[in-house]
Amino acid sequence: MAKGNGMSLTAKVLIGMVLGIVVGLGINLGGLNGAGSFIHEYVVNGLFLIIGKMFVTALKMLVVPLVIFSLISGVLGIGDIKALGKVGGKSFALYMLTTAIAIAAAITIAASLGIGEGVHMASAAKFTAKEAPALSSVLINIIPSNFIDAMAKGNMLQIIFFSILIGISILMVGKKAEPVVKLIEIGNEIMMKMVNIIMAIAPYAVFALLAKAIANLGLNLLADLAGYVLVLIGALMIHLLVTLMIILKVFSGKSPIMFLKKMREVQIFAFSTSSSNATIPVTLRAVVKKLGVHNSVASFTVPFGATINMDGTAIMQGVATVFIANAYGVDLGMSGYLTVILMSVLASIGTAGVPGVGLIMLSMVFSQVGLPVEGIGLILGVDRLLDMIRTAVNVSGDAAVSVIVAKSEGKFNDEIFNDPKAGMVSDDDLEIDESVEQELANILEETANK
Ligand code: ASP
Repeated sequence: MAKGNGMSLTAKVLIGMVLGIVVGLGINLGGLNGAGSFIHEYVVNGLFLIIGKMFVTALKMLVVPLVIFSLISGVLGIGDIKALGKVGGKSFALYMLTTAIAIAAAITIAASLGIGEGVHMASAAKFTAKEAPALSSVLINIIPSNFIDAMAKGNMLQIIFFSILIGISILMVGKKAEPVVKLIEIGNEIMMKMVNIIMAIAPYAVFALLAKAIANLGLNLLADLAGYVLVLIGALMIHLLVTLMIILKVFSGKSPIMFLKKMREVQIFAFSTSSSNATIPVTLRAVVKKLGVHNSVASFTVPFGATINMDGTAIMQGVATVFIANAYGVDLGMSGYLTVILMSVLASIGTAGVPGVGLIMLSMVFSQVGLPVEGIGLILGVDRLLDMIRTAVNVSGDAAVSVIVAKSEGKFNDEIFNDPKAGMVSDDDLEIDESVEQELANILEETANK
């Protein structure tokens, strides 16, 4: 329940977002962000940068322990290896399907509008492609040779693999493992509390992240590439509001309006951080506590989705491919576009949800279909803003699939989903009860006296 001063965190985050955009636009359009100016040095790249970076780092800090604890307790919660396999299979199939639909629709929309025709390549900024991982190495790398290394690097697929294996092994050990089961359950609860603490500063952080990002955007570039930007945003909105919502309604029967309302906060986090991975703690919390997905499903589908499911990124790749192919006068033909769809679905498996990774995936797709990789330089300038929007679509896809899988597995709580106030964080959630403080002090004293 939202208590305290009466305003829910979502409302505060929303205000932070609007103020951040307004202040960012003011600085940008007012020409206050010139290199060397006070605002540029100390506000945008000083205060805003520090607050934003500290917040995103704090979120990233939570991801690994949170995923490990919640996934192991999720496996223990399912308690049945076959059911686990079903959750894995269904979510994988749905993630791939939604990504393929997303990019196919994007290509169709962009091609029928003929975007990119008549664009001058001279304006292209330099773009050098980075290596994207090959599918074979992606598969081999699911298995960590050293789990500490996987944790240190935040390698999500490896962490998921090892956590599931630990969960299954605990189940096999049975009764003797009871203390470990308790430890994991409590660890999960502690991590969830930590998410609440970090989220309390979210409104300020969202403000700082957005004010900085928008102040630094090359807004004049938006006008040059208006066709690309508008078609891409349109395709992203169609996917989020129409395609995904039809899939959600058909497969789970749940209300798209309620879903979208409850996802607002997560979308703002994704929008301001441009990273599905850093948003995992917030997505996981919302999917369990607001949408009513049981932790045994969400603890797997959310980190898995953040890693392999990127509908928004796929849409960008579809629109960008058509745009650049047209700009260079290359006719990819039906088979070329089919290769693009296949390649981008595969590329999404091997790349984590971090800022800007979509462009790396795009270069992989381009070299496969023979489009000039340096063409990506054309869209580089506007990618920062588009990355924010597509990341919000990416996390929405993860949550929608989580709901569908949970519903089909009977791991879904309709009451939580239907309660508009479920899972809201308020200031009161952060207060420590006096009796709890006393209880803990007693425990410590007892231990010390032993
Ligand atoms: N930033 C996106 C994400 O984290 C990936 C991308 O499209 O670059 O989901």
